[in-house]
Amino acid sequence: MIEVKNLTKNYGLKRAVDNISFTVNDGEILGFLGPNGAGKSTTMNILTGYLSSTQGEVKIDGIDILEEPMKAKKKIGYLPEQPPLYLDMTVMGYLNFMYDLKKCKLPRKSHLQEICNLVKITEVSGRLIRNLSKGYRQRVGLAQALVGNPDVLVLDEPTVGLDPKQIIEIRNLIKKLGKRHTLILSSHILSEVQATCDRVIIINNGVLVADDTTSNLSHKMNSDNRFTLRVDAPEKEAFKVISSIPGMVRVDSLGQKEPGSCDFVFETDEDVDVRRELFARMAERNWPILGLRSSELSLEEIFLRLTKDDSVTPMTPQKQVEVKQTVAKILGDNLQPETEQVFESAPAVEQAVSQALEQMAQGPAAPAEAAEGESAESQAPSDGADENDAPEDAGENDGGDR
Ligand code: ADP
Ligand code: MG
Repeated sequence: MIEVKNLTKNYGLKRAVDNISFTVNDGEILGFLGPNGAGKSTTMNILTGYLSSTQGEVKIDGIDILEEPMKAKKKIGYLPEQPPLYLDMTVMGYLNFMYDLKKCKLPRKSHLQEICNLVKITEVSGRLIRNLSKGYRQRVGLAQALVGNPDVLVLDEPTVGLDPKQIIEIRNLIKKLGKRHTLILSSHILSEVQATCDRVIIINNGVLVADDTTSNLSHKMNSDNRFTLRVDAPEKEAFKVISSIPGMVRVDSLGQKEPGSCDFVFETDEDVDVRRELFARMAERNWPILGLRSSELSLEEIFLRLTKDDSVTPMTPQKQVEVKQTVAKILGDNLQPETEQVFESAPAVEQAVSQALEQMAQGPAAPAEAAEGESAESQAPSDGADENDAPEDAGENDGGDR
């Protein structure tokens, strides 16, 4: 079992990993997902003892990686982002070298042969690594990780740079390895994680934003209140009509997918069923509904939501303060003092910002009534542009390099 507790890593002033905690159970295949620069490699380098942490601890089967590095590292096979290959060695020469380096005690010949068979490099074992394709080099990288038969395998973006056929081969190989080893695999590609992992941890800007099973994550975020609609109607007007239905939370226009129609995806309040009302309003205007189906969030969308706008995870207190400061800076005196304490999540920020912007647009003398009326309307499903404003501002304030 791997236990990571309150792990933090600073590179100078840059915080690459921020107070991350998670555990990986024996036999589990864990996907470590996050955009480039999220802190995946840093975390993996710390897990495997290549880097020290600024704070926090890592235990492999109860052994602290900093206190007893040799003992802990024996349990781990690591394939870093750049596989540590010596191009002028033959495959077998290299594996023998790794065998010596790891002070492996298993019967040399049979152990290395078994690995070669498993990752299917037996037929190239006499060739120089230099002359191998990227796919084969990656297999050699995997092979070196397997030397010593470690319980845990840590693979950093193992399919990056491979062609589709090689990707499928490496994925199948990883699945096979997952049956015998506890496995952590990082990726910035969702389908990758979806295809191979039981559980997924999502990290963004060094912060852990989700930790759940792949299917649970999907399930959590999809529900009975998300639909895709295809309707034969003028897009802009239809958007307005759909948006005005009570209980609508969000409407996005998907444009034309079939000639003479337009598609929308919308979300409603949890306890509201808008289908009848939708039918009535479309029928009233003689706009035939060509299709209506409940729509699941793809993992891609889940990922974007989790990492882009904090709408699912509440913000950390530190983030709240930062966002508050940014919002106050942008809005100056237009920020309503009473809205200040509600910045617990991105939607709360969005709401406060859009209300304040409305008021700014109307000028200070605008009657309160009109401002309220306006904002109530624009609150409902907005056009998406507004929604992105607040989180982006928050990001800027975060000092990140996205
Ligand atoms: P990922 O593997 O998710 O792409 P990394 O762990 O490589 O992310 O990087 C996390 C952040 O730390 C990035 O912003 C990166 O620029 C920064 N970083 C990584 N390594 C170093 C380093 N040696 N010195 C300074 N900054 C670094
Ligand atoms: Mg990386």
